[in-house]
Amino acid sequence: MKRNFLIVLSFLILLAIGLTAILYLDKKDVKMSYPSFLEAVDRAQVAEVIVNEADNNTFQAKLKNDSSLYTVPNPKTENFTEYLLLNKIEVNYGKENVLGGLLKVFLVVGIAVLVFWYIKNGQNSGITKNVNKKNWKRLFSTPTKKEADAKSITLAQVAGNIEAKSMVEDIISFIQNPDKYSAVGARMPKGLLLYGPPGTGKTLMAKAIAGEAGVPFFAMSGSDFVQMYVGVGASRIRNLFNKAKKSDKAVIFIDEIDAIGKKRARNVSASNDERDQTLNALLTEMSGFHDNQGIIVIGATNRLDTLDEALLRPGRFDRHIEIGLPDVNARKHILSLYANKKPLSDDVDLEDLAKSTVYFSGAMLETLINEAAINAGNQMEPIITKEHIDKAFYTVIAGAPKTDRSYITEKDRRITAYHESGHALATTLLLPEHFISKVTIIPSVRGAGGFNLSIPKDTMFQSRRQLKANIQVLLAGRAAEELIFGSEEITTGASNDIQKASRLIADYLDKYGMDAELGLFSVEALEEGHDSRLISKCRAFMNSTYEETRKTIEENLPLLERITSELLEKESLNGTDIERICA
Ligand code: ADP
Ligand code: ZN
Repeated sequence: MKRNFLIVLSFLILLAIGLTAILYLDKKDVKMSYPSFLEAVDRAQVAEVIVNEADNNTFQAKLKNDSSLYTVPNPKTENFTEYLLLNKIEVNYGKENVLGGLLKVFLVVGIAVLVFWYIKNGQNSGITKNVNKKNWKRLFSTPTKKEADAKSITLAQVAGNIEAKSMVEDIISFIQNPDKYSAVGARMPKGLLLYGPPGTGKTLMAKAIAGEAGVPFFAMSGSDFVQMYVGVGASRIRNLFNKAKKSDKAVIFIDEIDAIGKKRARNVSASNDERDQTLNALLTEMSGFHDNQGIIVIGATNRLDTLDEALLRPGRFDRHIEIGLPDVNARKHILSLYANKKPLSDDVDLEDLAKSTVYFSGAMLETLINEAAINAGNQMEPIITKEHIDKAFYTVIAGAPKTDRSYITEKDRRITAYHESGHALATTLLLPEHFISKVTIIPSVRGAGGFNLSIPKDTMFQSRRQLKANIQVLLAGRAAEELIFGSEEITTGASNDIQKASRLIADYLDKYGMDAELGLFSVEALEEGHDSRLISKCRAFMNSTYEETRKTIEENLPLLERITSELLEKESLNGTDIERICA
């Protein structure tokens, strides 16, 4: 606080000096009598006369070779201007000078603000950030946005999340009817925290609460509050709450609340003043309104465990509702919500589509249907076919396919084909319960050479066998490359697989306690993290699993060859193709 005060003070002093300099040095105001003025005109010393229309008792004169402005009594004679013009004196009217002065004042203020901002930012992070367009825009834009678009949204538009919906129903009734609850001494939760993966409908749910309760919706994102001047975040919070309070009852939604309320790092004494101020302002505002006033604050975050405990205490965000990825029924519901008004061909089965979109979020499903519609539109076709959906599927999973593939060498194509066939073969052999949705060597604009998509069964648990098989499937791409091209020719294409496999192995051994020798104790449960014994065990496990995988592929080399040659020919295969080849 003290430091901030000092900064503000020096800023003000700077401003004062700047203004004084401009007013006194530049615009030295000297009086001149009318006769001396006429004399100066006669000697052709006058360069310019400025007549101020607002105050025409005097005018100002500028002499050649003299920077001063002379104030001269205005004779107000009829032909004065003509007289000046005939003497080749420039005549100007109005506030030009005042305007120029104002411009200069703005310049000084602007520079001071910039300097101040620069200092502030540098102080926060230790490094100075780029002054990018976005920051500028944010800096000068008015805080709240998207206020009135929630009115029409209802809970029926939120698919799945049945438990979450039942948990928000009483909140809605609370907002509508606080008196009913006050009568029995119930206190309405002031804050509601929605947490879960991105794109699962947290924002949608918050809007639905406002829509169902019939109250205004005020939304901001946590990132709007940070990376600002000192105090701006806090004042934006106060603004937001003031606006909401004006409408009596309201839903205030703060997306990405972790940007303000992240846990303070331990052992770091230099705290982030700005964020703390913002957080404190939020907490103060929340305790400021009456219990049963009918205002509720809804925060959304991807991760609950990173939030500062101060936010989670009773009287603050004391109700936590998980919004999860949709299960197969919810996916079907979401798909039919978005496919509802679109013409689907008969070969599109939403039930099948729901089954093959495990791990898709609601937002991804919405994009899937929309991309499919765009594909149909691009081809000027009146209905959405399975083909359009397949293409959209690819786009959602891997990004748009590259259309120009002329630069890809035959060697690269072959490597990719063996690699992807390796994954597909391992899936067929080791995880028969998975449904292979697509194997392709069509590269995507995101940089993948090709990809493999297999859909696991929608189950609650994974068995030890399945976990291990998953690791082997990940390693099978590299194993196939090595078997075909030799250990000197293996490529960087497996890096993503290796990362994922390593993570899975660490989970297998540590988090899930599935290794007999290491036992059930989990190092991850300790905050200190890594233990060298676990790491060497992970390495050994990785190596032996890789060997096993290579052996499995080697024993089935003819199948690998057959999948690869068909893949090279057709570029994409689906589950039935693989089944046919392996039968
Ligand atoms: P979040 O806030 O969790 O990141 P959003 O609410 O912004 O997610 O969801 C983005 C879009 O995805 C929504 O506007 C909606 O179109 C769609 N969506 C996501 N989840 C669902 C759901 N459960 N039901 C219906 N639509 C959903
Ligand atoms: Zn791979």
